[in-house]
Amino acid sequence: MIASLRALCASFASFALCSLLFVPSNAVAQAKGQISGAATYQLTKELLAVAPKRFNGSPGHLAAEKFIESHFEPEARDHRLEIDTFTASTPAGLQTMHNIIVKYPGKKDGLIVIGSHYETNYPLKDIAFFGANDGACTSALLIEIGQYLRAHPPQGYGVVLVFFDGEEAVKQWSAQDSLYGSRHLAAKWSQDGTLGHIKAFLLADMIGDKQLDIDQDGNSNPRLIELLKEAAKDTGHANAISRDHTPIEDDTVPFARRGVPVLDVIDFDYGPHTDATPDGYHHTAQDTIDKISPQSLQTAGDIFLELIRLVDQK
Ligand code: ZN
Repeated sequence: MIASLRALCASFASFALCSLLFVPSNAVAQAKGQISGAATYQLTKELLAVAPKRFNGSPGHLAAEKFIESHFEPEARDHRLEIDTFTASTPAGLQTMHNIIVKYPGKKDGLIVIGSHYETNYPLKDIAFFGANDGACTSALLIEIGQYLRAHPPQGYGVVLVFFDGEEAVKQWSAQDSLYGSRHLAAKWSQDGTLGHIKAFLLADMIGDKQLDIDQDGNSNPRLIELLKEAAKDTGHANAISRDHTPIEDDTVPFARRGVPVLDVIDFDYGPHTDATPDGYHHTAQDTIDKISPQSLQTAGDIFLELIRLVDQK
């Protein structure tokens, strides 16, 4: 029906009049002056330009860290930017890794953590693997969320952004060879007591896919899955939520194991599945900027900001 209305409208002399007929599905969120999918897409392009390959130890890995940090100068000046450096024992030997943490204090006791990983897959270091969807666009989304929070400081729980390093396996995915940054930070925050303050840990992963179908991750907290659906509905994106309940191993898992309520906002089904690429574009040289869209990033941004609001309320 929308397509036929658009065709009708194309024949109108006055497009301005016609555009009144088309209230975008995310109009509610846009009306609140929230973050921009177009800006997030542009930022993803900029990150990919300076750091196309971001596997550990590469110049791009360092460039990605500098890129992220450069967007948080006000927070750094205010001592709210923390570089969490640690040494990971990997199948390729000891590797130095860095989680980048940015804090926005709130008005009530408790924290909402929003995470994403920024590095690219180490075993794919010898092919043109750029991870536009897998790491780049979600890092850009967190930067945009940070800019929103700078302009609109949290009125409820504090918000902590975490750019995780070492999400990917260094050789082959296993409990020991994966999730280096999140395992390290969950252990560290367990020791210093931070974990007890976390009301929700929200992860963004692979949500730039042009055909966005956000999973109802089977490893996520059921109450937060309900909030995800509510947030999608509130912002006019209910059709972006799929019925897939497959449990996904991700940076949420080390926190869930320690009792933190977690939500992985992920669309794992990325691109067409063929004999040559059974996992679609995931972990292939096809994971490039043209496979993601500003619209999907708008949807993701709207949903994340609504999730913050809903977690604050409940
Ligand atoms: Zn990956």
